[in-house]
Amino acid sequence: MNAPLQNAGASLADMLETQRAAFNADMLPSAAARRQRLDKLHEMVAGNEAAILEAISADFGGRARQEMVLTELFVVLSAIRQQRRKLGRWMRARRVATPLHMLPGSSQIMPQPLGVIGNIVPWNYPCQLALVPVAAALAAGNRVMIKPSELTPAFSRLLAQLAARYFSPDELAVVEGGVDVSREFAALPFDHLIFTGSTAVGRQVAVAAAHNLTPVTLELGGKSPAIIDESCDLAESAPRLTFGKLFNAGQTCVAPDYALVPRARVTEFVREVTAAAAAMYPQYAGNQQYTSIISERHLARLQQLVREAEEQGAMAVRLGADGERRMAPVLLLNVTPEMAVMREEIFGPVLPVVAYDTLQQAIAFINQRERPLALYWFGRERSNCDLVLRSTISGGVTVNDALWHAAQENLPFGGVGASGIGAYHGEHGFLAFSKQKPIYRQARLNGFGLFRPPYGPLFDSLAGFLKRHM
Ligand code: NAD
Repeated sequence: MNAPLQNAGASLADMLETQRAAFNADMLPSAAARRQRLDKLHEMVAGNEAAILEAISADFGGRARQEMVLTELFVVLSAIRQQRRKLGRWMRARRVATPLHMLPGSSQIMPQPLGVIGNIVPWNYPCQLALVPVAAALAAGNRVMIKPSELTPAFSRLLAQLAARYFSPDELAVVEGGVDVSREFAALPFDHLIFTGSTAVGRQVAVAAAHNLTPVTLELGGKSPAIIDESCDLAESAPRLTFGKLFNAGQTCVAPDYALVPRARVTEFVREVTAAAAAMYPQYAGNQQYTSIISERHLARLQQLVREAEEQGAMAVRLGADGERRMAPVLLLNVTPEMAVMREEIFGPVLPVVAYDTLQQAIAFINQRERPLALYWFGRERSNCDLVLRSTISGGVTVNDALWHAAQENLPFGGVGASGIGAYHGEHGFLAFSKQKPIYRQARLNGFGLFRPPYGPLFDSLAGFLKRHM
């Protein structure tokens, strides 16, 4: 691949200016032009699948191919196709009802692209989190600049090369670089900035964007609980929970972070999760279907979390032997809220088990903490499920499984409180990157002259009538 990089030599501000000038020259691209851009994006991914998988796997030091096929290719291609299929309908201006006293004027909402969208991307799903927002932003008629993570240098380089090959730099541009570049990127006066990453960095991004009054979508992390209900059939649920936890070796924003388990069923829970993990991964060392931890530093952090919890009285159940950066799962029993593993987002194959006595207690445990990105509930008793849904606030929920609400593209995906601001996926992505412009058209003949001074008794009776009846 020898395509020149788009940003070679150009400053970030220049790149933004180039995109903005192109946008200003065509502020409402036709449906055909948008479809053409999405076709290029589709081709860029579908035509380079092997190179994409190879780059991501190299960055991870070994990532399960099947996981990548699902989350880095299938999810991206299907998002592009959905945006392409639906954009004609979503971009159409639509009439809305006009109240009686404003007739015969008429009202309309006109979706308009915002301009240039910035997208700052984490390392854990580098292709998906770079391109699913791009699909929505292009469908909505915008231009996009992407800043991939410095922790995925091979994929970031490939993405920059592919963008240069398939797009003109005023449509889609990729900026490579370290955290210093990310900082500079976040400070650019974009028309909208989407950031996916940690809550701590999200805070800094929000501050940088606030200086420009750039609106943000913040897709952050946090500690997502999984509640095992009294009524849960663990033989059925444990494999689902374990899959959600160990997919990408736990390096998933919506991975179940810890499990709340009825005290009397903790032993059974450990047994079932152990069996489920063993059935999926006979071993971890050298297992090509089990993903590595992204770096030595991240691995050391996870090991430290486990060690520290053990030193403070937790019991660690290790489900296998590690091999290089393939870390075998660890269940942690007898954890306390003071332990780092219960304060920080884990982001790895470590599952603390928190025993509870009553469902109210489990709910209170969740509500004492920051709003999670995801919540999982496993069980049969519908009324308990409803109680949890009514009494907790989270970015999203899957009932009787893990992760899957995030893959349903018709559901808005996003956090709440410390787990994020805004949402995207499907039409919600299109809306996130559009201005829904309200337009009221006044009729030639209308009664609005009555609202103009000089005011007299007619105004008072009209205002009185409106107050009572409208
Ligand atoms: P991170 O916050 O460390 O980095 C994310 C991106 O931000 C990187 O591209 C980095 O270069 C950039 N960055 C770093 N410092 C910056 C600064 N000061 N200003 C602007 N940009 C800066 O996150 P990470 O370690 O790459 O990813 C893991 C985190 O992301 C976890 O917390 C996870 O839960 C979260 N996440 C959330 C979602 C979601 O959709 N909600 C998805 C994936 C990951």
